Amino acid sequence: MTNRHSPARLHLQALYALFAFFLLQCAAHAAAPLAHTSAPGFYRFMLGSDEITALNDGTLELPVDQFLTNTTPQQIQRALAADYLESPLETSYNAFLVNTGAKLILIDTGVGNIFGPRLGRLATNIKASGYTPDQVDEIYITHMHADHIGGLTTDGGMSFPNATIRINRRELDYWLSEANMAKAPEGNRGDQKGTYRRAMAIMAPYIQQGRVQPFDGEAELSPGIRAYQSAGHTPGHVGYLIESQGNQLMVIGDIIHVAAIQFQDPTVTISFDSDSAQAEKERIKEFTRIADGKILFAAAHVPFPGLGRLKAEQHGFRWIPVNYSAGK
Ligand SMILES: [Zn+2]
Repeated sequence: MTNRHSPARLHLQALYALFAFFLLQCAAHAAAPLAHTSAPGFYRFMLGSDEITALNDGTLELPVDQFLTNTTPQQIQRALAADYLESPLETSYNAFLVNTGAKLILIDTGVGNIFGPRLGRLATNIKASGYTPDQVDEIYITHMHADHIGGLTTDGGMSFPNATIRINRRELDYWLSEANMAKAPEGNRGDQKGTYRRAMAIMAPYIQQGRVQPFDGEAELSPGIRAYQSAGHTPGHVGYLIESQGNQLMVIGDIIHVAAIQFQDPTVTISFDSDSAQAEKERIKEFTRIADGKILFAAAHVPFPGLGRLKAEQHGFRWIPVNYSAGK
């Protein structure tokens, strides 16, 4: 029988200690696996008494040098390089949640599972932000491209079972028209057949349940939240002006797609526009309004959280992203 302090036992203990030290050293030198993901995609701030949550649906690498029009690939490359960027450009897909205290309103819904795993994170980020999709009372749509309405459904079912959908009647009628779809060329972008087909499929369960309430043009949809017309990118595209206690936020939808290019040159258009000339006019008009009024704006494809202000410059506009807030 060995005594607790016998030399043999002490020798064994020293060996164990050495072995444990060796294991620790191994662990410390093992490479940590890459984590890959960023923080949950939500950003929160107060606009007067309204709580606004910017929500990210994910990002996608867009070959903007092929998509942008009324410019040249060389001009695009030069403008991107000036901001240390290149095409394809990782592009944000954002939506915005408004808690007025009386209602929870979501503006646009991301793309759902239509464009692959880099997108479709809206529901996850709503939950990360402290809400659940079934709490959403109303959904206001800027326009009916799949990256703005795709999140409405999951596997053909309603992702927001308690929500009423508000859409400009002109936009709704345009994309639900079988006659328009019949005239459209094949493809899945802009005014192509696939865009109509998707819009019809996505809206179907909400229409069947009587959950779609179109509005006509300029309309106050909720106290302090007004839709305003901004057609061009699509025929019934709208923005939403949110006002609370003297503060304003313009949710502008797809007035802009590439921050590094179209703020400084708002005459650059994109091939998904239904009417590029009208979209260009509308972009310049809204940017001027935002700059003149020093209005905070929220955009679907400006880098997340897609929030900032504009200053008019000699040529074009300068984008001033919001100063980071940790919330209150
Ligand atoms: Zn879009």
